[in-house]
Amino acid sequence: MSSRVGILALQGGVAEHQRSLNSLGVEPVLVRRREHLEDLSALILPGGESTTICKLLDLGGLLVPLGNLIRSGLPTYGTCAGMILLAKDVLNTRPDARGFATLDITVQRNAFGRQADSFECVLDFEGESLPAVFIRAPRVVSCGDNVRVLAQVPEDEKIPPSHRGAMVAVEQDNLLATSFHPEVTASTYIHRYFLKKAGISVASEVIAH
Ligand code: GLN
Repeated sequence: MSSRVGILALQGGVAEHQRSLNSLGVEPVLVRRREHLEDLSALILPGGESTTICKLLDLGGLLVPLGNLIRSGLPTYGTCAGMILLAKDVLNTRPDARGFATLDITVQRNAFGRQADSFECVLDFEGESLPAVFIRAPRVVSCGDNVRVLAQVPEDEKIPPSHRGAMVAVEQDNLLATSFHPEVTASTYIHRYFLKKAGISVASEVIAH
């Protein structure tokens, strides 16, 4: 059976992830309703507005079944708002916001400031230099022993001191999360990293980052 890679498509940066996957020869399933959850091999939770996505998940009856799938081991990659949806604890959110609460991290929403404070840098992601774009991004303020930190904002003098060292990419078991948006860059490194983690082979490993 071929692999079905889903992108949660209720709100946010769906088309950008779709383009990244397409460039790796993967045609994703856009997950909008319960029936789209069937036989998923992996799932991307895109960036957007986490409180809105939570509300739409709840209204559409997806919050519980999708949460069950994620907890039962579905490889899941959360970008920005997607990271917030996966986190066990969220600071600076609405009291009624509910996510999947599976990734053992505390995240602070909008931790680097407002939209105008969005920034870019080059990150060391496990030895790989990657372009990273932060848009009203969260930062991981603490994480459990079972969580591996894969990238931090560099100690670069062009970056505001308060941002430096922030944990911005983590993984735990079947879960991967980044504060930043690889899907808006030309690099498919993180998508390939995720698909490999999910046991999905892509058309070519030689496509340039
Ligand atoms: N600030 C947004 C939130 O809290 C996340 C922004 C993003 O996904 N680019 O949901």
